[in-house]
Formats: sequence, C-alpha cells, structure tokens
Amino acid sequence: MAELRTPPGTFDVLPGESRRWEALLGTFRKMVDGAGYGLLITPTFEDVRVFSRVGASTDVVRKEMYDFDDKGGRHLALRPEVTASAVRAFLQHRPSLPWKAWYAGSNFRYERAQSGRYREFHQLGVEAMGSADPDLDVEVVALGMELWAALGISRVDLLVNSLGDGVCRPGYRALLLEYLAGRRDELCEEHRDRLEENPLRVLDCKRPSCLAAAAGAPRQIDHLCAACGAHFDRVLAGLDALGVAYRVETALVRGLDYYTRTTFEYVGTALTSAQNALGGGGRYDGLVSAMGGPDTPAVGFALGMERVLLALDAEAPDDGWARARTVDVFVVDFSGGTGARDLTARLRAAGLRADRSFDGRSPKAQFKAADRSGATLALILGPDEVASATVGIKTLTSDTAQETVALDDVVGEVGRRLESVLG
Ligand code: AMP
Repeated sequence: MAELRTPPGTFDVLPGESRRWEALLGTFRKMVDGAGYGLLITPTFEDVRVFSRVGASTDVVRKEMYDFDDKGGRHLALRPEVTASAVRAFLQHRPSLPWKAWYAGSNFRYERAQSGRYREFHQLGVEAMGSADPDLDVEVVALGMELWAALGISRVDLLVNSLGDGVCRPGYRALLLEYLAGRRDELCEEHRDRLEENPLRVLDCKRPSCLAAAAGAPRQIDHLCAACGAHFDRVLAGLDALGVAYRVETALVRGLDYYTRTTFEYVGTALTSAQNALGGGGRYDGLVSAMGGPDTPAVGFALGMERVLLALDAEAPDDGWARARTVDVFVVDFSGGTGARDLTARLRAAGLRADRSFDGRSPKAQFKAADRSGATLALILGPDEVASATVGIKTLTSDTAQETVALDDVVGEVGRRLESVLG
C-alpha cells in the first residue's frame, strides 16, 4: 500500500508546534471572554441549505463547497465558514438578545492549496446578534486589533468600508452594473459572463483586467442613504476615539454576499499579498431574516489561525509567549519496582505536571529523557532510595548536586523548589 499522508491542503500540527496554537487560542479566549462573548460550538457539517445564503455568486458556494449525500440521503456540506451555522443555531434556539458568541474551529473549502491557503483551515471568530448599534461594530473591530497587540503583531492594516443596505445598495448596484457593462470586454472571463448576477463581485476580483476596469467605478460610500451614512460616520468616530488606525477602502466587498453596511479586513502587511488577509468581517443585518428568522441585525468577524501564525513567523517577534514547559517534574526510576508509577500518580494528584520513562530504560537514557522533557526537577528512585523510603531530587535547570528527601515529604519539597526556581 502506498504511504498514507494528509490529503492536499490539509496538515498535522504535532505536540510542540501545537503550543503556538494553544497560546493563540488562549489569548483570543481571554480577550473575547473579557468582552462578554460565550463559546459557541456547532456541528462541522450542516444541511447544505444553511450555506447557500453565503451567496450563490460566491466562489465559496459555487466552486469550493465540500457537499455530499449521507447514507440517509440528506444533502449535507462541511462548513465553509461559521457565520451561517451561528445564524442557524440562533434560529433554532432563539437565545435572548443581544447574543454574543465566539467560536474556534475547522472550515473546509476546495481551494487551490498553497502556503496560507488550505482546504481545511481554522478560524477564530465572534458573532454579535440583535443590535444595530454602530458602537457594536466598533467593539468587534477593536477586539481584533487588541488581539494583534496582545500577540505582538504590529504590521497590520485595518481596512473599512460600508456596503450600504437594502435602501441604498440596489441603486448603487445598478450604477455599478451600468459602469462595468460599458467595460465588459476589459473584465476577466469569469466576470464578463457573470456580471449581471452580482456586479459587486468584480470589486473583489484580484485579476489585473478587472482591477483596471473597476478603477474608476462608482463607490458605494458616495451613494449611502442617510441612515447608512450616519452609521458609517459613527463607526469611524468610534475607531478614532479608541485610537484604532484604519483606512477606508472603497472596493472592500469581501468574498461572502451577506454583508451590509460595515465591512472590514485585517491585512497582515508582513505576508505575501495573495494570502495576506488575517481576517475580516462586517455587518450582516439581512442574513437572519433571509434564513427565515425575524429581522435581526448582527456583526462579526473571522480570523484565519494559520495566517495569524504565519504573520507571527514573518514578524519574528520574541516567540516566548508561545513556549511553555511541558512538565514540572520528571521521575527517573531504576529501582525495578513500582516507584515511578506510584510517585508520578501522587505528583499529578497534587496538581503538578509530571512525566516519566517507560520500558525499564537505563538511568542514562532516563536522565536524557528528563532533560529533553524540559522539566525543572528530576526525582530519582534507585534501589537505595527505595530501601530507605527516600527520593533523590535534582534541579535540572541549574548545575546543582542531587539531594535526598523523605518519600513522605517529596510533594511538598517539589512545590517549594518549583516556587523558588520559577517564582
Ligand atoms: P472569510 O470567511 O472568507 O471571510 O475568511 C476569513 C479569514 O479566514 C481570511 O481572512 C483568512 O485569514 C482565513 N481563510 C479563509 N480561507 C482560507 C483558506 N482557504 N486557508 C487559510 N485561511 C483561510
């Protein structure tokens, strides 16, 4: 049988490397928890119709969905993003408003895999439903900025735009369509054929022909209705007040069709341009009602964990926040008995992080393993110690001699030593 490997566009994260993922998740969780968001867990697959509202004209729905019929004949899809699932959960459970949720998990898109673009990728995100207040947009945008600061990522541009709403978008859409229809021959093949379906998609196209054709196109922010204009002004004023630097990017429409009013993107300027979006989001005031629920305004963002870690690599800040010791104590046992088994269990029961060797390895091999483990202390059980009900104790992180403590006192002694070494 050929060697089995991860499918294209997927990867493993092994112990060690995964500490960075844990640290990222932990930093994010602390931040959103502190702002009143609760963890939301939804299924990885849903009825395919949950995702169709993401936009029939989007790549995500048209080309990239992992959909399949299950053995019961249900048409399901692996989730390509979480917002639609969050709205489905909201509709199913009708929690009280405002509903502030955060999530972390896998998403699946059949994309052309490359560095920073995967078929299974991981997002951290927040969704806040039930308020149209522009201050909530500011809260959400600022949360992302706080995360970059906490992680030590400094090279981030925040782009913001307004896409209007049901009042002013149709008129703008007609203007844009008229403008682009006059330049149809200049558009890339895909958008030439699909222009009428959604002319805003052209603004999201990175091909040079579309970029050139759209360069002088009408801008939504010049055609906002009074309510959308006031909303956008209040959002920008809020960002100013919080000292959050941003750039208004009038072509920012993002890849999903459900956005209204505020849209934004965090661009990692240390990354190569094709994969430099660290995350983004916006308002989706029409999505809950489009999925059959009551009129419920909402705003959220999603951040790509892989991209965030790439940005950390690219900026090469002190990575110390991500490194953690694996265990506090390593038990070295060459007494041939049950000491390692019992002592490790006692240490763990006392809340200490403890590990040991198996397979009756030589003392030398066990001390090597102890060093490799990153433990601060080694506890040593040889025949002499077992006979006298004592334990050898040695600080591995400094060059000190081995000492002896009574077996009964060992847990307390380990605690005292860790405190004095680690503070
Ligand atoms: P979206 O859900 O398309 O708004 O994407 C939000 C963020 O998820 C993007 O800014 C990226 O950071 C990340 N992302 C989206 N698609 C991928 C992918 N195929 N591979 C890795 N990250 C992705």
